[in-house]
Amino acid sequence: MSGAVLLERERLTSGTTWHTAGLLWQLQPSDVEVELLAHTRRVVSRELEEETGLHTGWIQNGGLFIASNRQRLDEYKRLMSLGKVYGVESHVLSPAETKTLYPLMNVDDLYGTLYVPHDGTMDPAGTCTTLARAASARGAQVIENCPVTGIRVWTDDFGVRRVAGVETQHGSIQTPCVVNCAGVWASAVGRMAGVKVPLVAMHHAYVVTERIEGIQNMPNVRDHDASVYLRLQGDALSVGGYEANPIFWEEAVKYRSRAAGGLCLKTSTEKVCAVWSDDLRRA
Ligand SMILES: Cc1cc2nc3c(=O)[nH]c(=O)nc-3n(C[C@H](O)[C@H](O)[C@H](O)COP(=O)(O)OP(=O)(O)OC[C@H]3O[C@@H](n4cnc5c(N)ncnc54)[C@H](O)[C@@H]3O)c2cc1C
Repeated sequence: MSGAVLLERERLTSGTTWHTAGLLWQLQPSDVEVELLAHTRRVVSRELEEETGLHTGWIQNGGLFIASNRQRLDEYKRLMSLGKVYGVESHVLSPAETKTLYPLMNVDDLYGTLYVPHDGTMDPAGTCTTLARAASARGAQVIENCPVTGIRVWTDDFGVRRVAGVETQHGSIQTPCVVNCAGVWASAVGRMAGVKVPLVAMHHAYVVTERIEGIQNMPNVRDHDASVYLRLQGDALSVGGYEANPIFWEEAVKYRSRAAGGLCLKTSTEKVCAVWSDDLRRA
């Protein structure tokens, strides 16, 4: 870690991270993702706190995938088998068992659910601060308010382009290695080195409900068919969805607000209702 420098244009978490839902679902169809998520979970829920003495804000309230058709339930059974191989505890529940676990849920049209008790949510600011603290303790430097303005490259004898250094308004840093972690701005940073980053950002909407009696300690919920997630947020829910016909970044920036680096967009009640009609019915 010694010698590593993190250059942040504004403040840490000021990009997408500050408003992420921070949900961690351990069971995914790809075994690579399952391993990566298991590692992330270990780091966020235990190792970072042991190393730094700081709490990352990890909350282990469990995760619940809901199946509203037979095929989806079969997929969840396969995920449960995959979880067994990787040591991820999970249970396929009947609608009645789901109702016992989550009394507020309308389970009338459910085929079943997949319950993963050790899923949870991380606090984005807490996780980022703790990661930065751990990295600094190992010799890394975090420099905020320091945008990267250019990347110097040279071409070696084999015609391969290599990095020579990074330019900022405050000076340059010589380095043969750059990690581009600029999120939705990664394409712009890539272009500085003549690299095309195949990344497309799109508008994502979520709403936070008022207080809901009895919601405390309930698991987070994911409905893959309705493309919606329900994240527990104290005694309320944050409800997010993925539109079938999303607004892409180029279109979205026309409507962006000045707040939060221009990442916040207005959304409409009609749009939210169109995306989440299935889940409004379930509540
Ligand atoms: C509403 C919402 C809900 C989400 N929910 C989840 C979830 O439940 N689970 C999950 O895993 N993911 C979720 N995500 C996705 C997750 O938030 C992102 O994948 C993650 O935050 C990306 O982190 P990042 O560090 O790559 O990017 P960012 O947090 O965007 O960081 C990139 C940083 O690069 C900086 N930067 C840009 N250009 C430059 C430059 N030229 N020089 C220096 N610095 C620069 C920016 O200022 C920014 O701070 C969600 C996202 C949203 C919007």
